[in-house]
Amino acid sequence: MDWVDLRSDTVTLPTPQMREAMAAAVVGDDVYGEDPTINQLEEMSASLMGKQAGLFVPSGTMGNLAAILAHCGRGDEFILGHQSHTFLFEAGGAAALGGVHPHLLQNQTDGTLILDEIEGAVRKEDIHQPISRLVVLENTHNRCGGVALSLEYTRSAAELAHQHGLQLHLDGARIFNAAVALGVETADLAEPTDSVIFCLSKGLSAPVGSLLCGSSEFIARARRMRKQLGGGMRQAGVLAAAGIVALETMIERLEEDHIRAKNLAQGLATVPGLVLDPDIPETNMVFLSLNDEVPLSASEVAGRLKERGVLAGVVTNRRFRLVTHYWIEDSDIDQAIEGFREVMGGV
Ligand SMILES: *Cc1c(COP(=O)(O)O)cnc(C)c1O
Repeated sequence: MDWVDLRSDTVTLPTPQMREAMAAAVVGDDVYGEDPTINQLEEMSASLMGKQAGLFVPSGTMGNLAAILAHCGRGDEFILGHQSHTFLFEAGGAAALGGVHPHLLQNQTDGTLILDEIEGAVRKEDIHQPISRLVVLENTHNRCGGVALSLEYTRSAAELAHQHGLQLHLDGARIFNAAVALGVETADLAEPTDSVIFCLSKGLSAPVGSLLCGSSEFIARARRMRKQLGGGMRQAGVLAAAGIVALETMIERLEEDHIRAKNLAQGLATVPGLVLDPDIPETNMVFLSLNDEVPLSASEVAGRLKERGVLAGVVTNRRFRLVTHYWIEDSDIDQAIEGFREVMGGV
């Protein structure tokens, strides 16, 4: 079956142009710093983020972890949101492997942390308390609906962190979606941060990889952390080659994914039993719930959608996440809306 796969933008397959670039890539031993394609990707990435240096890592999870380890020592504390990917979906790596203590704050529905609460979370100089080192923000914020955090907010959070001697790391897995949605330059959005990661393997459709960017001195430390974590790769220029094509060809078109997400949300809003949250998605994610009258669980609905060729992400037993991406076309949006209409009409 030709699936309409809306579970995530991670399901995107490499484009034919990426496969050609991968086959033709000039490679070398990257642990020796000798892979020209990786070096090129790291330079391109640093420049897109307005930073001095970049580091190619196998995943966003490793990028965030290498960043946390490079910013914090054992027993130090980092401040992050209770809905953040780093807290929820990275297997507790910072605590497990780094002995870094998470200090959770409530994410607001717009993905932000309240600045006063960040300030209140910063530890005093006291032998009883861990040392606060880092604030982690996420943009776009995945669990909060793919919302984009504004440039003004990012600046204010950075200013506050710096006032207290803390650093700011941005989990920008989808920072390009945020920049496109906000109509700002990605480098401007990343500018206030001390470090930032972004993923090549989501909306940008490359098969593997993320980039961590920051100052040269920071990236040198993060490179050591990547090695400790087993992420020192050799002729990985074959992967970086796809990443370069991704950065060259896949950023501007993200707007199309955002438009399709809006169309999907508008269509689903007319289906009885479904509640959209929010009504209008900001980027490429549509979150929706079953209202109390629907006698099926989200998994049961997803099972019936699957029979109609539509794959939906189940978030809780009442809630779905649908993500648009390069491999989703207008006709797929129609098929997904029709699929929901049929399933909901039959209950
Ligand atoms: C996907 C994602 C990551 C990293 O995920 P990997 O699967 O490890 O690449 C990090 N943060 C956010 C917000 C994400 O959505």
